[in-house]
Amino acid sequence: MKSASGVPAYRRVLLKLSGEALMGADAYGINREVLARIAAEVKSVADIGVQLAIVIGGGNIFRGIAPSAQGMDRASADYMGMLATIMNSLALQDALEKQGVSVRVQSALRVDQVVEPYVRRRAIRHLEQGRVVIFAAGTGNPFFTTDTAATLRGAEIGANVVLKATKVDGVYDRDPVKHADAKRYETISYDEVLDKRLGVMDAASIVMCRDQNLTVRVFSIHKPGNLMRVCLGENVGTLVSSAAGMPRLRT
Ligand code: UDP
Repeated sequence: MKSASGVPAYRRVLLKLSGEALMGADAYGINREVLARIAAEVKSVADIGVQLAIVIGGGNIFRGIAPSAQGMDRASADYMGMLATIMNSLALQDALEKQGVSVRVQSALRVDQVVEPYVRRRAIRHLEQGRVVIFAAGTGNPFFTTDTAATLRGAEIGANVVLKATKVDGVYDRDPVKHADAKRYETISYDEVLDKRLGVMDAASIVMCRDQNLTVRVFSIHKPGNLMRVCLGENVGTLVSSAAGMPRLRT
């Protein structure tokens, strides 16, 4: 599905950025250089007319299942995680605005003095007006992840694809960090991801993608220019879809 040069392959995309993507090589928090680079990539695709909504994680600050949350009431810990995503959203909003991008943050938890509440129709209106929309606070519910929020929001706004930006350049048959001979899939079906328990996104979000027939592209955000390549329809990373047949392993 490669488009003509410079013409986006998608009208509307949902980009899922993990909190860790903002961390760079740091051990915690937000690396401002990395943030500025990601903002520049987002701007480049917004500039060619792609309507861009972003769900951002919080793992660089806090996760409900983190060791530091052990012994805590899980729901409380998860609310802390959701609050972390609001902090990341504000940081990304700031970085985007510094580069002249028009952007709104909408939160699934109400923090009215800081960001808009999530209102689906208003979010779609922002996108139609060419504004980047950042969805903060995940789904607003504990016991979920921002991957599920990405699928949920992607389905709600009618995104053509969910772009899952990660540290690795796609879905592998084994953990590529531990196994040098791990092979990357070019395409794989939702069911294969579930059956093989590949840790690309959590099972709840993959099931929702399957039910909504929402395609996911998994790619590395650390390779400069990748977001643009993906938005131009290039075959970057791994495509997760309902496509029948055997998963295609890259040789
Ligand atoms: N979280 C939650 N409900 C949601 C989304 C997130 O409770 O709908 C909490 C959960 O504790 C999670 C944390 O927020 O661990 C940060 O989100 P996530 O782990 O998905 O961030 P990422 O791994 O993408 O940085």
